[in-house]
Amino acid sequence: MKNNVTIVGAGLAGSLCALYLSKKGYKVSVYERRGDLRSEMITAGKSINLALSERGLTALRKAGIENEILKIAIPMYKRIMHDYNGGLTEQFYGNEDQAIYSVSRAQLNVVMMKLAAQNGVNLYFNQKCTEVDFPNSKIVFANTITDTKSVVYSEFLVGGDGAFSAVRSEMVKKYGHEYSYNKIEHDYKELHIPAGQNGEFLLEKNALHIWPRGNFMLIALPNLDGSFTCTLFAAKKGLNSFEGLKSKKQVENYFSKIFPDFFKMVPDLYDQWTANPTSSLGIIKTFPWHIEDKAVLIGDSAHATVPFYGQGMNASLEDCRVLDELLEKNEKDLGKCFNEYSKIRKPNGDGLQALSLHNFIVMRDKTADPKFLLQKKIEQKFANTFPEKWIPLYSMVSFTNIPYSKAWSIGKKQEAIMQEIMKVPNIESKWEEEEIMLKILKAL
Ligand SMILES: Cc1cc2nc3c(=O)[nH]c(=O)nc-3n(C[C@H](O)[C@H](O)[C@H](O)COP(=O)(O)OP(=O)(O)OC[C@H]3O[C@@H](n4cnc5c(N)ncnc54)[C@H](O)[C@@H]3O)c2cc1C
Repeated sequence: MKNNVTIVGAGLAGSLCALYLSKKGYKVSVYERRGDLRSEMITAGKSINLALSERGLTALRKAGIENEILKIAIPMYKRIMHDYNGGLTEQFYGNEDQAIYSVSRAQLNVVMMKLAAQNGVNLYFNQKCTEVDFPNSKIVFANTITDTKSVVYSEFLVGGDGAFSAVRSEMVKKYGHEYSYNKIEHDYKELHIPAGQNGEFLLEKNALHIWPRGNFMLIALPNLDGSFTCTLFAAKKGLNSFEGLKSKKQVENYFSKIFPDFFKMVPDLYDQWTANPTSSLGIIKTFPWHIEDKAVLIGDSAHATVPFYGQGMNASLEDCRVLDELLEKNEKDLGKCFNEYSKIRKPNGDGLQALSLHNFIVMRDKTADPKFLLQKKIEQKFANTFPEKWIPLYSMVSFTNIPYSKAWSIGKKQEAIMQEIMKVPNIESKWEEEEIMLKILKAL
């Protein structure tokens, strides 16, 4: 058995990292601020669900748990867009057999914690990290029920404690690390489309549904029980914003006019509206992501982002895989390993955040634009004809492990080429002609 490692946070990144490190022979202890999700009542349908894609799956596969997770996941092959009259258009995410997966965050977390515990990881709950003494590898936890303090020593520490990480804030406070938090002007609220009377899906099951409305949008992801978890993203203030949505009449008017097909499926809309919180969204940047050979950050604690590419968790799971690979190379020199991890991952954290902001505009606005949908069809045709020359941006991000920073820089170049192609006169009628493919080839 190797030395003790302490992980702060038993979320998605913390649980997977615990599994990886225990497989390496470390004695791993995870301390989590909340109660034990495994024993608390979880209704899958009511939990927020996340889109899991190739990077997340690759990380789960390497830890040997991909198949366990796929059992609780629903493949989504396409986006289905709902217009103001309930009319539908659709766009495949890649080729027709490529999918991203809807999975309940709570269920995923429970399965990962169970698998980590089966592998010898010790999990402690209601333990909030309040202080870190990095040089002495000492962490102080406060029990959130009894308020008693405990002190834990370990060889090194992993901060997997999410966007408002205590470990990161100790790094920033004591070592002057870079830190910024930028809230965006949009908030979000979760809503729920119930299953039909016989548990059937009221919308097409294997798709991510979007109601794109320009500056705001509603989305829905399927749950295993036939329901959909939906999220409204809208500005805090101004036209069609949360500001004007207070009374039952205001809320019902808004949804019946702007999202009429959704409105018909949610009889208890206003009850949900008042019961569910409105939450804010933001981008957190920090650097470095480690302290010598003592501590390292993974997941949202290092790179929390806005959720529009569905990549925050995927990036967090990817952190765990990359850290594991670097440990394989450099286990005897943890300082070197953590330094390399910080340097490799930080540009990808930045790339992830740029991509996430970019995709908000794509989802809420562009997916309603026939010209954009045509552009994506042309790109897919070119990519299928010259797969070694072009992978569309969405596919690079969701169906490969190409680093985010590289995907973002290639994606910007592709966009510039496609803007020229879309200017070709009568592109709508001639997009399938060889001339168009050759024009892209020449521009590359
Ligand atoms: C609305 C929304 C939709 C999203 N959709 C997607 C999606 O579709 N796909 C995707 O890939 N990502 C998505 N994300 C992002 C994803 O949820 C996060 O990136 C992911 O949960 C990060 O995992 P984590 O383990 O780093 O942090 P978390 O999941 O936040 O886990 C951190 C854990 O640390 C614990 N903790 C916090 N402070 C302390 C402390 N002081 N002491 C001890 N424990 C502590 C917390 O209780 C928590 O359990 C979405 C996010 C939001 C907000």
